[in-house]
Order: sequence, then structure tokens, then C-alpha cells
Amino acid sequence: MEFLENRKTALARLNREIVACRLCPRLVEHRERVALNKRAAYQSCEYWAKPVPGFGDPSARVLLLGLAPGAHGSNRTGRMFTGDGSGIFLYRVLHRAGYSNQPTAARVGDGLRLSGAYITAAARCAPPDNKPTPAELKNCADFLAREMALLPNLRVVVALGKVAWDAYLAWRKNSGKAAPSPKPAFGHGAEVDLGDGPILLGSYHPSQQNTFTGKLTEKQMLAVLRRAQKFSNRAPALGPPADPFRRRHGGGARRQKD
Ligand code: SF4
Repeated sequence: MEFLENRKTALARLNREIVACRLCPRLVEHRERVALNKRAAYQSCEYWAKPVPGFGDPSARVLLLGLAPGAHGSNRTGRMFTGDGSGIFLYRVLHRAGYSNQPTAARVGDGLRLSGAYITAAARCAPPDNKPTPAELKNCADFLAREMALLPNLRVVVALGKVAWDAYLAWRKNSGKAAPSPKPAFGHGAEVDLGDGPILLGSYHPSQQNTFTGKLTEKQMLAVLRRAQKFSNRAPALGPPADPFRRRHGGGARRQKD
């Protein structure tokens, strides 16, 4: 328990550092400009307009790794995948899979809780056209590495799109882990298990570009999350679940000690 509290404190400290970051001039300019040019529907909203920190369960076994904040979604609300179409889709599926206590995410303070999962992104600032540059992704990679180090129960990384897939592979390289050769190709349902780090699963990104066109359905994303659950439940387990909400991720088995 003491370890868990220390980790929560360390994650909170890291998140404060992320929120204060201004390393990428182009992204700083963009995230702040978007906040001045609000969408008509959000005229009365105060935009967050800062880097968006990770969100979820510090004991997570599953990490969902996205691309970057949406300009009028999490760049507005300040929480991962909150306030736009991608989030509406994602949290509905996370709820169906038992990773969230509610199917909706409207704003910070809406009661949303994740259990067994943590959500983060390869870049923490909203990029123009949803495209961070390689240099910006490199700048942000250190935050991902430090976040993952503070989530020691991780068993699976679900990469939401190719940029996230590549960010996980870059994390492996930067962590001194063996680089898979040939480089595994991203695809929905693709899996990479190298035995010395979280298993990598690929999923199409839940952007409206994919969900409105039928490229990604709830059923398809749920299948990836069920697969992630299967891998995460395979890990050795110790101790009973802390509460009934958590029990859904233990599959009736005992939970790893924090
Ligand atoms: S993208 Fe990452 S490194 Fe760049 S300014 Fe935002 S938080 Fe900092």
C-alpha cells in the first residue's frame, strides 16, 4: 500500500511537470491559438490549452497509448480522450470491457474512474492536423518512459494507431530492450510479444475518421480489449481485489500486489 501511495505521488509530480512543459514551440503556439479560436459549441468553455497528463489506475495492467490530444477535445477539457468523438467511442468500449465505471467522459470531475487501465498519448499537446513531427514525438518520449516506469504492473500496451505503435517500439529501443527485426507492422489486432516488456497490441485509432466510416467498430475494439484482458489476467496474481469494481479485472483471480 505504501508503494502504491508513493507511486501515486510520483505520478502526480510527473503530471505537474508534463502540464508545465513548453518544449515544442509549434505545439505550444497551436494549443494556445486553438483556445482563442473556440468552436461555436464551446464558446462558453475555458480551454485547458496545456499538455494533457496521463489518466487512470496507477495499478493498471493495460496501457492505452493514443496519438495526441484532440484540439477541441482533451485540449479543451484537460483529460485524455475527454470531450470529443474519439472519447465518446473509446469510453463506451472501455465501459463494456469493464475498465471504466461509466460509459461517458464529459469533463474532469464527472466521476469517471478507470480500473486496470491507464490512458496516455505519444504527444501530450494538440498538434496541427493531428500530426506531431518526429522531433516533437521525440521530445515527448521521455514523459512516456517515465510514466511507464511508474506503472510497474503493466502487462499490455494497446497502441491506438501507428504513431502510438511506433512510440512503443521507440520506447523499447530507448530502454535498451532488443529491437524486433524486421520491425513489426502495425495493424488492427496485430500483436508483438518479445517477452521482456508489456505485450504490444494494435488497434485502429478511435477517431471519427475511422469510426464514422466503419473502419473501426465497437465490436472490433472490444475484441482487442478482451485480448488485452486475457494477457493481463495471465500474469501472476497475489492478494484479493480491493473492491467489487476491481474484481471485474481479476477474472475471479487474485490481483498482483502493488
Ligand atoms: S508535446 Fe510533449 S514535449 Fe512537446 S511541449 Fe507538449 S508536453 Fe512538452
